[in-house]
Amino acid sequence: MNVDPDCLFCKIVAGQIPSKKVFEDEELLAFHDIHPWAPVHVLVIPKQHIATLADVGPEHDALLGRMLGLAPRLMKELGVGNGFRTLLNTGRDGGQEVYHLHMHVMGGPRPWRKG
Ligand code: AMP
Ligand code: ZN
Repeated sequence: MNVDPDCLFCKIVAGQIPSKKVFEDEELLAFHDIHPWAPVHVLVIPKQHIATLADVGPEHDALLGRMLGLAPRLMKELGVGNGFRTLLNTGRDGGQEVYHLHMHVMGGPRPWRKG
């Protein structure tokens, strides 16, 4: 599996940095964002290191589909029943801060801190 030893989220996948996990299987991990914008704010990531959404190819179609498909399931499990927001920041102008592909999934009653 592709891993970047200097990457924060690869370290979370490896268990070298703690996280509050909400889902894990062979290829995906989901955990609570450390600075939540909303009452529920989780990040869904592939376990393999892919820096940004601009780096995916057709070989990642199934993986991306699984990331998106996990969102409603997690929100339901976390008690979010009134809709949620999914967000992918890509690259510098996209506001990406952590260069390991991740999808934000946010829900819960408004107002939110951001977003
Ligand atoms: P982005 O701006 O899309 O790259 O978002 C990166 C997100 O990662 C931000 O919402 C951060 O709060 C979150 N984050 C950074 N470090 C951690 C960490 N150690 N555990 C959980 N979330 C983190
Ligand atoms: Zn990584």
